[in-house]
Amino acid sequence: MPGTPARQAPPPPDSERAAIDLTHPLVNDKVPACHGHPCYSARLTFNLAAGDFANVHTLTLGSHTGTHIDAPYHFFLQGRTVDQLDLALLCAAPAIVVDLRHKRAHERIDWADLSRHVPAMRPGAVLLLCTGWSRHWSTPQYRDHPFLDADAARRVMDMGVRVVGMDTLSPDEMTGDEDTGEVHRVVLGEGGVIVENLTRLGELVDAGFQQPLVSLLPLNLAGCDGSPVRAVAWEGSR
Ligand SMILES: [Zn+2]
Repeated sequence: MPGTPARQAPPPPDSERAAIDLTHPLVNDKVPACHGHPCYSARLTFNLAAGDFANVHTLTLGSHTGTHIDAPYHFFLQGRTVDQLDLALLCAAPAIVVDLRHKRAHERIDWADLSRHVPAMRPGAVLLLCTGWSRHWSTPQYRDHPFLDADAARRVMDMGVRVVGMDTLSPDEMTGDEDTGEVHRVVLGEGGVIVENLTRLGELVDAGFQQPLVSLLPLNLAGCDGSPVRAVAWEGSR
């Protein structure tokens, strides 16, 4: 029929490609933040229930709210900002998931914990540290997470990996209100990216994926040092 393009039915859902959402939900007053960082909130500005024409929220958040990435500019004035990152490193990237759920509060993750994964460490790979600490999200214990040794981080960089993620507030140890910043300087100093506050990494381990892929895509925030992401993993071998 001229003038009326035929509508195609959407493809059926593909249960073979079930994704694991590695992102914490953003809920008012439930999102832990580093000392002094903005708190998260979403409040209705226009409200259907109050007679407005539509629902519209005003969001308040920081560049490091919830599950998010740190760009090099977070620690380095000359470093890349979020809008300058190589998205190929963050989109459908092969993931190395290290099971560290035996680690306790403030316990160090050193090279011996990671070295068995050396064969998979290469440029383009994403290293994910599964401590299981996301179970403490929104509790005081969340700050007492295991942390990555700076020398181990250096060796990971030496293997060509440039994206390191974890299910904790930081890859560095928290001391009081701040973290030490050591691993931040190593990874961001190499032009790498840090992904913080991931969740469900244990499910990713237990799923036994042969070739897990992840996407960790930031908002296109011009000149910004970090951005919330929607982090998703799926089996790439099918
Ligand atoms: Zn951050």
